[in-house]
Amino acid sequence: MTAALKRTARAVLGARPVQSLLSAAAHRGDPVTVLCYHTLSADDGGPDAWTALRVSDFRSHLAILRESYNIVSLDEVFAAGPGRPSGGRPRAVLTFDDGEAGLHRHLLPLLTAERVPVLVYIATAQIETGRPYWFDRVMGALGEGAREVALPHLGHWSLTAAPGAARWVVLGDLLETLKRMHPIDREELADRIAADNPPPPGRPPLGPMTAEELAELAANPWVTIGAHSDCHNLLDQLPEDEAVASMDRSRRLLRDWTGQEVAHFAWPNGNHSAALRKAAARMGFRTAAALDNRLWRRGADLYALPRLAIGRYDDAARFRLRLVGV
Ligand SMILES: [Zn+2]
Repeated sequence: MTAALKRTARAVLGARPVQSLLSAAAHRGDPVTVLCYHTLSADDGGPDAWTALRVSDFRSHLAILRESYNIVSLDEVFAAGPGRPSGGRPRAVLTFDDGEAGLHRHLLPLLTAERVPVLVYIATAQIETGRPYWFDRVMGALGEGAREVALPHLGHWSLTAAPGAARWVVLGDLLETLKRMHPIDREELADRIAADNPPPPGRPPLGPMTAEELAELAANPWVTIGAHSDCHNLLDQLPEDEAVASMDRSRRLLRDWTGQEVAHFAWPNGNHSAALRKAAARMGFRTAAALDNRLWRRGADLYALPRLAIGRYDDAARFRLRLVGV
C-alpha cells in the first residue's frame, strides 16, 4: 500500500462512527485488552527505539483508555475471569517487559498521580550484572544519527539520520536477524556493533534499573512485579531444563529483591512451548503472558495470555486503531 493510501485508510478507520463499529466488534464477548509496553523515555531526545515510548504518548494512551475502559490489575481480572466486565466497561491491563531504567525514571513518578495499576515483568540477569541485554546494547548504540552496519554473511543495514518508524523498520530487521542467532555469536556481534558506535559516556541510553531502583518501583502500591526469565533468551529454543532454571532463578531473585510473592510470568519475545507452559503451571505461576496482538478472550490458555505490543511509533491516532484490532 502506498503512503497516501495508508493515510486515507487511517483517516477513514479513525473516524468516530467507524471506530464505534470496530470497537463494538472487537469487544464482542467482553474480552480483556492486555497491553505490552517496554519502557518510557523523555519526550525530547533519547534513543529512537520502538521499546522506548515517549512519556507524553503514554499519557495520551492513558487518556484514551479512560474514555472507554477500566484500567485494572491482572490479579483483578484473574479473580473475576474474562467475560465479566466490572462496571459494564471493557477492561484493560497495562504491562511492561524487561526492567529498563526508564521505568524508574519516568513511569514511577507518574503512577501515583495517574492511579493506574501496572504489572512489570523483570528479566533479572541485567539487574544483577548491570549489563544491558544485547538488544538494548544494539538499540542504544544505533538509536541516533545515520549509521551503517555491515555484518559478514548476514547483511548490510543503512539507518537514516531522520528518526521515526521508517528508520525503525531497518533497525528492527537487524534485531530480528540477531535474534535468530546462537546466543554466543549474538553477544559477540552486539558487542562489535556497540564498539563501532560508542554511546556517549555515562549510563547507557538503554539499560537496566539497579536493584535499588527496582525495589523502589516494587514498593509502589500501583506496581505488581512479575518474572520474565533470567537470561531473556528465546526459552523455546533452549534445552527445557535450562529454560526452567532461568524462569525459576528470575522468580527467586525477584522475591529476594522485593520481598514480594511473584505470581505472574511473561515469555521473552512471547516464545513458549507446551512443555514450558506446563512447567510454568507446575512452578506455581498463576499466568504466563505471550504477545500475539490479540485480545484475551474467555477460554484462552492462562499460560499463553495474548497481549497487544505497543511501542514508540504508536501515537494517539495509531493507538486508537490498535485497540480495535487494526
Ligand atoms: Zn522482554
